[in-house]
Amino acid sequence: MLLEKIKNLKKSALSDLEKVFDEKSFRDFELKYFARKTGLLTKILRGLSGLSIEEKKKIGKFSNEIKREIEELMKKKKKEIEYLSLKKKLKKEKIDLTLPGQEKEIGSLHPLSTVQREIEDIFLQMGFQILTGPEMESEYYNFEALNIPSYHPARDMQDTFYMEEEGTVLRTHTSPVQIRAMQDYGAPLKAIVPGRVFRYEATDASHDNTFYQIEGLMIDKEINLANLKAIMQEVLNRIFKKEVKLRFRPGYFPFVEPGLELDLGCLICEGKGCSVCKQSGWVEFMGAGMIHPNVLKAGKINPKKWQGFAFGFGLTRLVMMKYGINDIRLLSGGNLNFLKQFN
Ligand SMILES: [Zn+2]
Repeated sequence: MLLEKIKNLKKSALSDLEKVFDEKSFRDFELKYFARKTGLLTKILRGLSGLSIEEKKKIGKFSNEIKREIEELMKKKKKEIEYLSLKKKLKKEKIDLTLPGQEKEIGSLHPLSTVQREIEDIFLQMGFQILTGPEMESEYYNFEALNIPSYHPARDMQDTFYMEEEGTVLRTHTSPVQIRAMQDYGAPLKAIVPGRVFRYEATDASHDNTFYQIEGLMIDKEINLANLKAIMQEVLNRIFKKEVKLRFRPGYFPFVEPGLELDLGCLICEGKGCSVCKQSGWVEFMGAGMIHPNVLKAGKINPKKWQGFAFGFGLTRLVMMKYGINDIRLLSGGNLNFLKQFN
């Protein structure tokens, strides 16, 4: 009777085990047959204690064999389930290397930054240092120290934004850094100063209230305008990647003496005359001159021992010339469609 019961139990256990396919059904199976109190096999093994020694030996051996057999099969099953679940997991994690990648948009340099870096590289190779200064500047550095006293009409040419703090303006040019550089480093000195400047200006295609300049100066015992011409020729040839024509003509700036303007042979018409150069073949490019003795003095440099030139040009204007941009507002408008052309 009992033997029959055990045989049937084995049969049903084996068929149940066949149906086990995941961790949950495996646990259910385990509970059904091996639970400490309610397991079907457990119960039978417990019931053996009431038998005679003879029967115990016989049936006990038999049922233990069955138990071991089932346990052996369960071990196999468990491995199978583990393998299957791993396979499922890997399938989910599979990466299809043939799928196209997700493109990430990367920003690029603004044309002003690109050209500024180009110019910085050229000057660095010539031994100039690159300096910066405050955009909110004292009236003293922006005007007085540059030989533009408060009564001077040149102040009207550079109308600017006066700050609430007494005697403070948004700098109208990068030139105040000339004074700061002379005070900090003394002579001899070779430096350029790229930076943002501000003017109280009505905005149109060629005027903006905020733009960029590059200032430069070179001070030593025998620096003269021939040095300036040679340096600017080299720099401009390299920026425009061709031999450009230059000419000097007299010009007035309070912080230089003599002062001059440097014109660039028109790059559009090559000097033949067009609307950009107003048929003259020349385009105004920068102001320059020999640093005024008063400016050297303000920079704590002795004008009897040292001399040098200074120049300043519009980086914004240069970028417009280089890329043929006809509206200055495009450069500060933040329009990506415009800027993407320079990637
Ligand atoms: Zn022209």
